[in-house]
Amino acid sequence: MASCDQPGLMPLAEGISKLLAAVSGQRRSETVPLTAAANRVLAEPVFAPAAVPGFDNSAMDGYAVRAADMTLGKTFSVQGRALAGSVFEQRLQADRVVRIMTGAALPRGADTVIMQENSRRDGADERVSFSDLPPLGSNVRKAGDDIQQGSQVISANTRLNAVYLALLASVGCATVKVYSKTTVGLISTGDELKSPGEALTYGDIYNSNAPALVQMLSNLNVDILDYGILQDDPELFRQTFSRADRECDFVLTSGGVSVGEADYTRDILQELGTIDFWKLAIKPGKPFAFGHLPNSYFIGLPGNPVSALVTFHLLASQAIRQHQHLGYRPMAQLTAITTQPIKKSPGRMDFQRGYWQATTAGVSVAPTRSAQGSHILTSLANANCYIALEQERGSVAVGEAVTLWLFDEIF
Ligand code: AMP
Ligand code: MG
Repeated sequence: MASCDQPGLMPLAEGISKLLAAVSGQRRSETVPLTAAANRVLAEPVFAPAAVPGFDNSAMDGYAVRAADMTLGKTFSVQGRALAGSVFEQRLQADRVVRIMTGAALPRGADTVIMQENSRRDGADERVSFSDLPPLGSNVRKAGDDIQQGSQVISANTRLNAVYLALLASVGCATVKVYSKTTVGLISTGDELKSPGEALTYGDIYNSNAPALVQMLSNLNVDILDYGILQDDPELFRQTFSRADRECDFVLTSGGVSVGEADYTRDILQELGTIDFWKLAIKPGKPFAFGHLPNSYFIGLPGNPVSALVTFHLLASQAIRQHQHLGYRPMAQLTAITTQPIKKSPGRMDFQRGYWQATTAGVSVAPTRSAQGSHILTSLANANCYIALEQERGSVAVGEAVTLWLFDEIF
């Protein structure tokens, strides 16, 4: 049967489009020292105040020469030495050479560097001849080779990774203007939840969603306000949602979003704000809610651990990226042949947890557990990809091609 099996379920792609359209980018920005800018997102482009390199310099240890003066086998006297950070101030004279080290500024009058390996020193280093003469300009790193003065080094809305930090340092940026961090309020709901370290009474479980969500949020470099565990009490939900709404850009809950008797998340969201959509045609993760509170975006994740983590990965992380001006980033996809049969009914897009490997015959994949309930956290623990089975697809036989979505750094 087709998706009319499950009326009211929104396809994943539509849910993601709605999220991206609803979330606007962070407006606040701040200037921070470069040393504190790792993983922050640039709020304006950076232009190079100076060229890099700032001067012509040597790419080798060897001799700075004027190419036109050079003859194989002829002996030249060494006029002096140029070291990185220690400039040889004189002009290179005719028929002389200057000993030069990597990174040293090329002396005026020199245009070429001959590497040390192609030189033969005569006596006490004062005279030298060459066994190979490179073309004019060899082994010289020209000013502006890497970055031209005034050129754009990095565009706005770029997350500053290690390489970008190096680039910014190379042009001498001591501070950068970045967007203020996104603040996410984390709320776990459920009378049954205890934190590890607490004693469980019969019927209780440990809150496994919170530590996973904290880690995934940390990977997105947001500020986290953890409001802890809420008992299933509508008044408590009301108070905590309101407080988190005042303090955060996103309010992120897990649990209580389904249709059970103690599921207050949706009701209180509707009371305090608006529900943009609820219920997606995906498995795991059908009861996923997105909406607005007066001051913040609201994301209600399902309570089941696999559903909570997968919907955070597929949806919530994209909404947070959008707020950080980073936009949608799909996971890399790969086609693989399944080595195990996979059970599926049409109607929802299924994100089975799989382990893929490259073999001589191509890429193969198998589900990590044959029973993939949304409470089976170990199915996710041993996975390196989702086996993304299309909404209308049924069961998959061994040897069929399937599409993989490869795990990224969010987990
Ligand atoms: P709910 O959406 O509140 O009905 O929860 C669905 C299932 O997820 C129930 O079995 C809950 O006990 C479980 N659950 C809810 N929150 C958490 C959590 N933070 N950690 C682990 N399991 C949870
Ligand atoms: Mg609950």
